[in-house]
Amino acid sequence: MIAPLDRADGKRTDDELRTILALHAIAISEMAQGLCVLDAEFRIVLFNRRFVEMLGTGGKLCCVGVHASDLFAERGTQSQSYHSPTGEMWNEIEEQLAQGTPFLLHRRFSSQKVVALDFKPTTGQGWLLTCAEPNEQPILEHQSELLRKVIENVSHGLCLFDAQQRVLLLNKQFLEIYGYDHSVVKPGVSLRDIVNHAIASRTYSQPTADSLEDELASVLIQDETTRLSHLTDGRVIETRTLRVGTGGWLTEHKDITSQVQSESALQDRNHLLDAVLDHMSHGLCAFDDQLKLIAVNARYLEMYRLTYEDARPGTPIVELMRGSIARGVHVPGISAEEMLVDFKKRLIDNKEPELHRHLADGRVISVRHQPMVGGGWVGTYEDITERYRAEESITHIARHDALTDLPNRLLFSEKMIKGLARVAAKKDAMAVMCFDLDNFKAVNDSLGHPVGDMLLQELAKRLCVTVGEEDTVARLGGDEFAIIHPTADARDTEKLAQRLISTTSAPFVIEGQEIHSSICIGIALAPDHGTTAEQLMKCADLALYRAKSQGRNSWRFFDPEMDMQLQARRALEVDLHRALTANEFHLTYQPLINLATNNVVGMEALVRWKHPIRGPVPPSEFIPVAEETGLIVPLGEWVLRQACAEARNWPATIRLAVNLSPVQFRNRNLVSVIINALSAARLPPARLELEITEAALMQDEGSVVSILQQLRSLGARITLDNFGTGYSSLSYLRKFPFDRIKIDKSFIVDADSNADSATIVRTIAALGQALGIETTAEGIETLDHLKLVQRAGCTEGQGYLIGAARSAAEALKFIVEHQRVVTAA
Ligand code: C2E
Ligand code: MG
Repeated sequence: MIAPLDRADGKRTDDELRTILALHAIAISEMAQGLCVLDAEFRIVLFNRRFVEMLGTGGKLCCVGVHASDLFAERGTQSQSYHSPTGEMWNEIEEQLAQGTPFLLHRRFSSQKVVALDFKPTTGQGWLLTCAEPNEQPILEHQSELLRKVIENVSHGLCLFDAQQRVLLLNKQFLEIYGYDHSVVKPGVSLRDIVNHAIASRTYSQPTADSLEDELASVLIQDETTRLSHLTDGRVIETRTLRVGTGGWLTEHKDITSQVQSESALQDRNHLLDAVLDHMSHGLCAFDDQLKLIAVNARYLEMYRLTYEDARPGTPIVELMRGSIARGVHVPGISAEEMLVDFKKRLIDNKEPELHRHLADGRVISVRHQPMVGGGWVGTYEDITERYRAEESITHIARHDALTDLPNRLLFSEKMIKGLARVAAKKDAMAVMCFDLDNFKAVNDSLGHPVGDMLLQELAKRLCVTVGEEDTVARLGGDEFAIIHPTADARDTEKLAQRLISTTSAPFVIEGQEIHSSICIGIALAPDHGTTAEQLMKCADLALYRAKSQGRNSWRFFDPEMDMQLQARRALEVDLHRALTANEFHLTYQPLINLATNNVVGMEALVRWKHPIRGPVPPSEFIPVAEETGLIVPLGEWVLRQACAEARNWPATIRLAVNLSPVQFRNRNLVSVIINALSAARLPPARLELEITEAALMQDEGSVVSILQQLRSLGARITLDNFGTGYSSLSYLRKFPFDRIKIDKSFIVDADSNADSATIVRTIAALGQALGIETTAEGIETLDHLKLVQRAGCTEGQGYLIGAARSAAEALKFIVEHQRVVTAA
């Protein structure tokens, strides 16, 4: 193992030479450094034990004559070289050797120690190679130990590569993340080895080794990159690669599977939410406290004809308004700024949580805004057009009359309340008019209800075109109509009343029939006549009542005096109720004479009321009140009983005439009441004459005629009283064969001055003669009257000239005395 040294003088003895050689050999062998001498062909000439130790070959290959390339090539494959990849160590050394100059290399061999290889050329074209461990070696070892500990204790996987993409350091977390076999992936292995191992282990979900390596390599050429890798088992690894100063790379590996999963779950949820929002039937729009848009859904955009471009997050809400106005969505005349002011007001006040926005095309959108936790609002927008229309139609039906489509009583009173509120607020005025058709009942009765309905419809049309835009015409029921006329001008109201009268008095042509109609109008003014709907309607009704008493086609404003009369009438009602039980009534009797013989033929019972305070109250005042209150029924029964009892005292030739009110015919017991009165007085029915008016026949004719027939069959006589007033329809004479017609006293009293009245008297008398009906002339006050009715052919007479109504005793006296006078004459 010791090679011969150069001789100094060439004269030493063989023994000397052997000794010297032995000493050299020992010195070389015991050197702290490794030593190796190479010849010009790089073959080993000499080496020592330390050289073998440092290279870690165990002396197996290190022999004299072995080529250095074998030595270092062997080192390269068997040990983990520090700076160069496998097999390249010798090439590197050879290149340096070719230079022929000294050079120093540091290499780590299998001993894990870094060895400084110091090549120096020798004079004989060979090379002297000394190997030593650098002085700083312990420090390096310490630092790398520290580094290792840090690396092992970080939570992520770490792997340090050198410039040749070989692993210098790695931690167990790195191996665990990828499930790498630690005997395969360890310091010294190249990136490609790791890739191959990963492919074999099916670690990555990437398809091929090349694509994976290309991807990894592309990462390594950048200073810092972050990439995600998807592993076959579904995990996601984030790899951050950082170029380090030594020319290598530090890679950090983080398992972010759960983070990715939760992000993806969040994203899925957001997608789901987006899908839900976009499929909502409601529009939705969220905006922050600065009134800037956060989100909208597709339905909202569709409703307002906007696009996603118009509604980017952050867009001020006023811009959306501007956009929809520009596209003609809103009713013209409103600006975005005005809309915004209104919008803000509603958000702040929150008094009107739901707004119905009417759009230009007729759609109705229900808008609601709810404040969001943390500021801002969420608006929901619902197209309620269909519902709104249905509700409108229901509201319309509930508030309008089905026949004429005019507002009904409900809407009328709502409008009245509104109008009165306006009157109170503005200190303005308002007129309320009420009226009905004068002859509607007759039309219904004679032409039938369908014609009556058509008449009302035609009338409603005329009324609508006659009133002004501000006026409200309502049908309150039957033929009852009312108008609200919002004006303070009484003249203006009068003009409207005149227009209404003239439009309704023009004939209506219904189903080819001409119908003449007329109205009377009662008018009340707010606030003068009342400030509530009830007060006004009552006043208008009173005025109508008064207008009717004036005759057809007349109108009257309410007068407070009418109210006083009403009060008086109420008081009369109260007193009247008490009067019967208080025995305040008594009967008087007015004679009836035969105009031919001058004999007293009858007495008409006429009721009198002597009020303890008011004194005598005339029948014209209390009979209508008794009729309205129904008191006429017991009063009429009292009259019948009283009169029948009295008539029993008269000669059998004297008839008793009793007036029957139309109201008494509504009492089913009328016939039995009469029978009882007659039988109680034991008065033969033939001596009783019942006076009824046309008004009795105008109510339910059938039942009235049947009652009259029953009374007639008893033997009583039936007289048509006050003939010539009212409708004087001859048809009534056909409906029931009356025994007598009483010509109303107004014709007789009037006959002096009015030729027509005299003619009417003569005509009725002639009619009676023609029909075989007796006629009685009422109101004979003068001899002229007497002559007139006698000449006219009336059969009987009654009047102050003959005798006024008198007490029962006086009546009996009259009968006796008159009879004596007549007999004497
Ligand atoms: P009537 O049945 O037409 O009665 C005749 C009325 O004319 C009576 O008025 C009588 O006093 C009045 N009269 C008689 N002769 C003359 C005359 O020459 N000139 C004038 N201007 N008037 C004359 P009265 O008693 O005030 O009765 C008025 C009405 O009251 C009656 O009209 C009748 O409809 C009703 N009435 C009176 N008593 C009763 C009754 O017991 N029952 C019912 N249901 N009605 C009655
Ligand atoms: Mg009478």
